[in-house]
Amino acid sequence: MRLSQMLFVTLREDPAEAEIPSHKLLLRAGYIRRIASGVYAYLPLMWRVLKKVSNIVREEMDATGAQECLLPQLQPAELWQESGRWETYTKAEGIMFALTDRQEREMGLGPTHEEVITAIARDMIRSYRQLPLHLYQIQNKFRDEIRPRFGLMRGREFIMKDGYSFHADEASLQETYADMDWAYSNMFRRCGLEFRAVQADSGAIGGAASQEFMILAEAGEDEVLYTEDGKYAANVEKATSLPAEAKSSAFVLYEKRETPNTNTIDKLCQFFKCSPTEIVKNIIYRVVYDNGRMVLVLVSIRGDLEVNEVKLYNELARLAPTYGGNAIIAVDIPSEQVQQQLTLKPLPLGYIGPDLADNYITPAEQLHPEFLRFADRTVVELKNFVTGANETGYHVVGANWGEQFPLSDRLVDLRKSQAGDRAVHDPSQVLKSARGIEVGHIFQLGTKYSQALGATYTNEQGESVPLVMGCYGVGVSRLAQAAVEQSYDKDGIIWPVAIAPYHAIICIPNISDTDQVEVAENLYTELNAVGIETLLDDREERAGVKFKDADLVGIPYRIVTGRSLKVGKVEVVERATKTSHEIAISEVAATLKTWIDEALSSAVK
Ligand code: ATP
Ligand code: MG
Repeated sequence: MRLSQMLFVTLREDPAEAEIPSHKLLLRAGYIRRIASGVYAYLPLMWRVLKKVSNIVREEMDATGAQECLLPQLQPAELWQESGRWETYTKAEGIMFALTDRQEREMGLGPTHEEVITAIARDMIRSYRQLPLHLYQIQNKFRDEIRPRFGLMRGREFIMKDGYSFHADEASLQETYADMDWAYSNMFRRCGLEFRAVQADSGAIGGAASQEFMILAEAGEDEVLYTEDGKYAANVEKATSLPAEAKSSAFVLYEKRETPNTNTIDKLCQFFKCSPTEIVKNIIYRVVYDNGRMVLVLVSIRGDLEVNEVKLYNELARLAPTYGGNAIIAVDIPSEQVQQQLTLKPLPLGYIGPDLADNYITPAEQLHPEFLRFADRTVVELKNFVTGANETGYHVVGANWGEQFPLSDRLVDLRKSQAGDRAVHDPSQVLKSARGIEVGHIFQLGTKYSQALGATYTNEQGESVPLVMGCYGVGVSRLAQAAVEQSYDKDGIIWPVAIAPYHAIICIPNISDTDQVEVAENLYTELNAVGIETLLDDREERAGVKFKDADLVGIPYRIVTGRSLKVGKVEVVERATKTSHEIAISEVAATLKTWIDEALSSAVK
């Protein structure tokens, strides 16, 4: 392609709309244009990158025996009502774009495709002989994200590879899951990315395994906790660890003490000159279920620790049937205004004890009359602890479970692990923290959707049983930007060779010099003919401008038909290292071919 004929517009200044380097660079180098919040046009250079990423994804998927298909983006509400996700996805969570067609039928734009694929499996898979089966697609997804940001990282329309597998049993699912782990690792390696596979939260579905693939980068929205021995890595949402040892308490006598202005753990520790590990703190949450039922939740946890709200959410989701619901609409710490409606008298915030009386709760039809009390495992061992006295300005000290306070029988792990904690598998290992960009997620779904939609098959014994399912996603457009976030310098993008829009760019420093033009034109034809994807900068611009643009756009090899032409050579500059080589014109194609093949194969290892 000739730059003179391309839609090629670069910006010198950082666009105000972008916060992180990759977003700034993709805008400046003319890869993408914002059309609306979270909605981007992929311009020709970007589209080449996206096609390369998609092809790598496709090759690795096909190699596992998965089959590509294309499912509709426009989906009927009924399918989502069958799975029970319509209300939560369109209203509570609100992530799904919904519309009503001219026949007054409700439809949604696909944020994901479990419902559609399960409906197909329900209709078409009859027998165990058809299993296992794995279908995937690469296409646009729509999600009305609350905070679309960072360009392609969190868009409202974005490209995803999503695959769904169907199995006769768990063992077969495990096999495909392991194949996907392998295929995903290959994909990301081939794209030239530094990544880490981490244990991930699998929601309230139960013991199902799930793993995320993270590109390590400062701008990542996820936090990963890992150990240096390489044996443990998990999303902070999922991570477990051993908490720091608790200090043994100096309060041997149980008594109520006046503790003015101690409504935070810090202030209370200062007041008593004690460690936060001697304190049981109690936090009030509210959960709203899909049947409208509301429950106030009291969580007791050691004073130095934080509640992991994903773990709490999962516990509450499991309890939905107890309150007559199927799913959660929201979990929050109720605002002051909401609290006033839910409680008869103001809660003694900052001074709450684990035994806060149920008669605080306003009698109301949709409000459960008792607190749902959880104790994080870390409070069990505490002796002679400090906690709230349920009266503003007062705490109790020297308290013990089974004496002054009953211990909740809902003992669960609700603690947020953090860097510095000791690892469970080896307490001599300490958890470290890194930021990650989630580019892939593989997930053992089990029978959640097949049961809801009645997707069954007949097994060898002739019984009709639900299909066992797995699902596997790659954020194709997010991945392309993540590659930039991991590889750039002050001058611009440094694309890994495997996903660069072009391999080489030929810059003609002076287009009125006919020798320069002739050599460049010949090389341009020759390189493209041997499969080296080459751009020709034949614009009427100063050489400096051309070099700056080539660096910004990030093409791996720049060829300059400049001074050394006199001795039959051109200059070839490697973008990543800025190393410059003088190469005989006749050898340029062969040399580049070797370098490109080397770069591609080293990314495969
Ligand atoms: P996240 O936790 O980042 O919101 P998710 O868990 O909702 O993602 P999945 O439903 O597992 O994502 O989707 C599969 C993949 O699609 C993700 O691993 C991610 O790479 C990508 N993805 C998800 N949401 C977006 C988005 N809004 N924009 C771009 N890519 C996305
Ligand atoms: Mg995810």
